[in-house]
Amino acid sequence: MKYGIVGFSGRMGQEIQKVFSEKGHELVLKVDVNGVEEIGSPEVIVDFSSPEALTTTVNLCRKYKSGLVLGTTGLTDEHFKLLKELSNEIPVVQAYNFSIGINVLKKFLAEISKILTDWDVEIVETHHRFKKDAPSGTAILLKEALDKEITIHSLRIGGVPGDHVVVFGNIGETIEIKHRAISRTVFAIGALKAAEFVVNRRAGLYSFEEVLFGGE
Ligand code: NAD
Repeated sequence: MKYGIVGFSGRMGQEIQKVFSEKGHELVLKVDVNGVEEIGSPEVIVDFSSPEALTTTVNLCRKYKSGLVLGTTGLTDEHFKLLKELSNEIPVVQAYNFSIGINVLKKFLAEISKILTDWDVEIVETHHRFKKDAPSGTAILLKEALDKEITIHSLRIGGVPGDHVVVFGNIGETIEIKHRAISRTVFAIGALKAAEFVVNRRAGLYSFEEVLFGGE
């Protein structure tokens, strides 16, 4: 597979390059804050960068008629509108978390919140000190799975790749459900699954859940 990376010099970009090249895929497009290097024609573009890069990414996807795997967080409604338009032309997988564990947890939370209707619930998320957005995209998607207006607490400490704890409580007891990303490799492996899914797929906006578990 010929692929491009937007954010290739970043923490995730480096990890993606490693995981994709181990599988023999060929990096033919590199984009970061310093500019665009076009070596060949990508079948898929993987963007783990910054919301400011999205217009460049969308233009490149249109130019090459490639699929898009988008992991960048901190997107606004305007960005989602842009993605929706793009997905009429090409296949797009967008997810705020490309780990299997978080996507399983999402399903679990949707179920448990139907049972614990009168319990308090809050989320605590911890990430490395360089993370630009807060709350994390993952905390936002867990909140959506709970389908409740809840408080998210964000810690920015050291080099933590990503911890999320969902805490439920009533007057006499608490339940804590924790997910820990041990390394960023897990997200790069997920991005590879999504890239393989997107190649030769018909146009549309897909979730990582659809990649993992098929359509609803
Ligand atoms: P980073 O700061 O290490 O790297 C960012 C990269 O984006 C750099 O290469 C930088 O040059 C490039 N970049 C920044 N602004 C740009 C612009 N305007 N145009 C072109 N390139 C630009 O960040 P990171 O830790 O690699 O994370 C990148 C993104 O991926 C963040 O939004 C982060 O939250 C997200 N992320 C998502 C997941 C997921 O599973 N969806 C997992 C981890 C990180």
